[in-house]
Amino acid sequence: MIAVAFAAAPAFGVSDGTCPPVNGSDPANELAISVGLLARLQSFVSTNYVQREQDTTFDLRDATDSHGRTGVIGTEPFSPEEMAELDRLEAKLPACVRNKANIVRAFRSKRGMAAERLGIVGIAYAYNNGTYNKDPDGKIVKGGQVIITDLFLDRQSFNKQGDGDAQMQVAMGWSTCQPPKGLSAEKLSDVKTRARELPSQLKKLSRERIFFHEHIHGVTHEQEESGWTDPSSVEGFFGRDGVSRYEKLRAKVYQAGGPLEKYNERLRNARSREEYCVIFQERADYLKKEGVPSRWPGDTHALDDRDEYVTILIEQMMYDPQGMTGYTAEEKAWAENWWNYTFNPAYRQNGSAPRIKFGECPSESVAGGPNSSPSSGSMGYGNSQTYGGW
Ligand SMILES: [Zn+2]
Repeated sequence: MIAVAFAAAPAFGVSDGTCPPVNGSDPANELAISVGLLARLQSFVSTNYVQREQDTTFDLRDATDSHGRTGVIGTEPFSPEEMAELDRLEAKLPACVRNKANIVRAFRSKRGMAAERLGIVGIAYAYNNGTYNKDPDGKIVKGGQVIITDLFLDRQSFNKQGDGDAQMQVAMGWSTCQPPKGLSAEKLSDVKTRARELPSQLKKLSRERIFFHEHIHGVTHEQEESGWTDPSSVEGFFGRDGVSRYEKLRAKVYQAGGPLEKYNERLRNARSREEYCVIFQERADYLKKEGVPSRWPGDTHALDDRDEYVTILIEQMMYDPQGMTGYTAEEKAWAENWWNYTFNPAYRQNGSAPRIKFGECPSESVAGGPNSSPSSGSMGYGNSQTYGGW
């Protein structure tokens, strides 16, 4: 029930960003989904910034398997400035996405902890099905949650020298072998210079885009259940006649004894970052050759699970349509249909109703309420932000 944006790094601070698949068989699911549907009918969903110290689960499967030894993270209250910072970021997202994402809680990880120890680079989305994260009075809260770490907040990492965008760019680059060589201690903490030296795709990484990605996890989460037969739904995408290449790519790339398995074995045995990154690059080239979508050099997150495959497709359609690699024209066309299926109730009721453009909300906003925003134009996700993507 979880999709981590960027999971952490076992060897040499290098991450492949692993997100466990959705656990559809969890009995608590059914109930959780119906509550989610209710919440989504409200005019808007407000995020509760959790203001107490507690542990929270960001990876339910891991937490269950390990009896809470992993997949759980310590949190502490947000500062008022941090809450304002996150509100400003969230306000940049299309109102219909914010509302349907049903993200009801945000947790702030303990300050000053390294990503490697936390298990999260920047931010993670998790669906709280109520098994964990009860309120102190024992009440169960259901809905999406995000866990925010130092890296995602302005001047909270790297000697407090960079903004959250630069911190995320550098951390994401580092976790995918950009740069491939080790750095001096001085250079390691120089977030501004490191951000300037990244490949162009990574330089254009913005927290708005990452935040959008997490919200899309929330939206698609509710569509990943049986009974959604419309070809424009997420189940339709992955279904027998769906256009998704995910299953085919997985079957090919994840074959036992295949090249990927061998690369992963070599990665586990690498003895230095340099050695690790040489193998990592070979592995990335191999996956690219097989048509695995990637957002920047070495990014292989799209194949980690279905959640990531569909979310990264939508994210790239939004922020980097020109720079997309790996996804087919059919998959992109599906994303356009999915947008209308999901955010355009008139179209969903009647297929001949006018369509809305990908990335825009219907004009009679699904939103309403005090947090609603205009559906386009002033949202900050217009051309100046999205052109070229990251
Ligand atoms: Zn993700």
